[in-house]
Amino acid sequence: MGNAVVTGSGSGIGAAIRERLESEGFEVIGIDLKGAELIADLSGPEGRADAVREALERCGGRLDRLVTCAGLGSNVRPASLVASVNYFGSVEVLDGLFPALQKGQDPAAVAIVSNSAQMAPLDDTPFVAAMLDGNEPEARRIIDEMDSPIVAYLGSKHALGRAVRRRVRSWGDARVRLNGVAPGPVWTPLLEATRDDPATRKEIENIDIPIGRFGQPEDIAAFVSFLLGPEATWMHGSVLFLDGGNDAEIRPDRY
Ligand code: NAD
Repeated sequence: MGNAVVTGSGSGIGAAIRERLESEGFEVIGIDLKGAELIADLSGPEGRADAVREALERCGGRLDRLVTCAGLGSNVRPASLVASVNYFGSVEVLDGLFPALQKGQDPAAVAIVSNSAQMAPLDDTPFVAAMLDGNEPEARRIIDEMDSPIVAYLGSKHALGRAVRRRVRSWGDARVRLNGVAPGPVWTPLLEATRDDPATRKEIENIDIPIGRFGQPEDIAAFVSFLLGPEATWMHGSVLFLDGGNDAEIRPDRY
């Protein structure tokens, strides 16, 4: 069928996406801290550069599908680590593998964002601006000073959605589709850890999803598969919510 790179393939949503793509016949190169073809730490520039270089070697410089899913939850400290993995760990892999995607067959990529990215007024914060400017030391400095993994999580996902949208022309000109998927609460080790953290426990326990259940990793994998596939070839530059109605209930008048 073709080949694909999936970051965060060792657990949760990334593992389900990996399984789904494999079931469709893709040869998947997983990138993760463990349990993947390519073991890499996406929290720093060197680990990301190694991951990109090795992925390019493994795919022979030609890639059909890419999903950046590796991420940390709002329970992780220091806050700067969350920003580094969730924003820079995604954007640098997207940009690093873009040349290979340009040589792929009907190439497409998806970045896994979060529906929480729009739930706080973060548009003009210096933290988000530093990430979008590619200034990782400054972003890390600001967020560690705030000492808020929750803002680090929301802000990094907010910036990532904007990074997807900002690439719409350059990627479109190259005929490489790029979209974001913004899941709501999905039962994975990340969500379980957030629920088990006293700082966020109540918030998670109080979530009431309109459609009546939390998401499962397979819900996200099925939609990502659609977005990457032949039925979605006019879908480009969008950030799509997939959350059982969670965002619509919280922000009914914004979309
Ligand atoms: P998960 O913890 O099950 O999986 C995350 C994966 O990312 C793990 O395999 C982990 O090892 C990997 N990872 C973390 N840090 C890394 C690093 N430095 N280098 C390489 N790999 C690293 O979590 P999940 O819930 O499946 O999350 C996947 C993505 O979905 C994340 O980006 C998360 O923010 C996003 N998301 C999750 C939810 C949810 O409710 N679960 C909701 C919205 C968005």
